[in-house]
Amino acid sequence: MKLSPRQQIAPIYHRRIGDIVVTAVSDGTLERTHEMMLGVPADEARMHLAAACRSSFVLSINAFLIRSGGRLALIETGSGDYLGPTAGHLIANLAAAGVSPEEIDTILLTHMHPDHSAGLTNMSSGTANYRNAELVVHENEPKHWFDDAAMARGSEREKRLMFQQAREQTAPYRGRMRTFTAGEVLPGVTALPIPGHTPGHSGFLVESAGERLLIWGDVVHMPEVQVPRPDVSMVVDTDPQAAAASRRRVFDMVASERMLVTGMHLHFPGFAHVVREGGGYRLVPEAWRQSL
Ligand SMILES: [Zn+2]
Repeated sequence: MKLSPRQQIAPIYHRRIGDIVVTAVSDGTLERTHEMMLGVPADEARMHLAAACRSSFVLSINAFLIRSGGRLALIETGSGDYLGPTAGHLIANLAAAGVSPEEIDTILLTHMHPDHSAGLTNMSSGTANYRNAELVVHENEPKHWFDDAAMARGSEREKRLMFQQAREQTAPYRGRMRTFTAGEVLPGVTALPIPGHTPGHSGFLVESAGERLLIWGDVVHMPEVQVPRPDVSMVVDTDPQAAAASRRRVFDMVASERMLVTGMHLHFPGFAHVVREGGGYRLVPEAWRQSL
């Protein structure tokens, strides 16, 4: 008799956008509470969770490989050793996808928070995990996280996990960092600034042969709550009001244009459409596609 499976299969999912192949790879999950959200009472937050048939506030963490024009890029590096054992599995999961870190030529970051940039560098040795990759990020990210005056205004937790983390993790990449304000950053991939969550927070629009996908970064962290209530921001937002305004603008755009989206905190693999419902929106996850 065969033994029952002891663990889940590797979380990898390919989605073709025209001639570009996007691969979602999970870094893991984190359990959070309603206290991560601003402007929503606990009972209402739990009501939204119950409406989605969920019992806990799970934050999914995704990264995305992009194969385009002979390039192999990785959007985000996961959380490394910064956020505990339920996350930080990106490199192991890339191996399961047949990709070694040396093969990656470009790392695109939506922003420099620990669940996105803390997998850049080995925490104990200080060496780059992606030794052949150029690091590409909006110019406002290093400008903010390397600013000593901004760091001095942060809480102890922000100083350590945000400012210190961003500095430590990007250090081996200083000589090979490219910053952008907007525009094409890779063949078929355009940066779209979505400020508020952080000053340089950006999504990446993938376009090829008439097909489009918006990889929207952290437009939402808790989809069960923030999709129906886009005004709900996060305690970790640098500017919660600007984050809410950006979220409304992006929801309006992707709903009007029926654009396929995915994100770093949509539940794996996260490919979905956003439709209008009531005064808010509803997420319609895309069904698994057999053909690539
Ligand atoms: Zn995040």
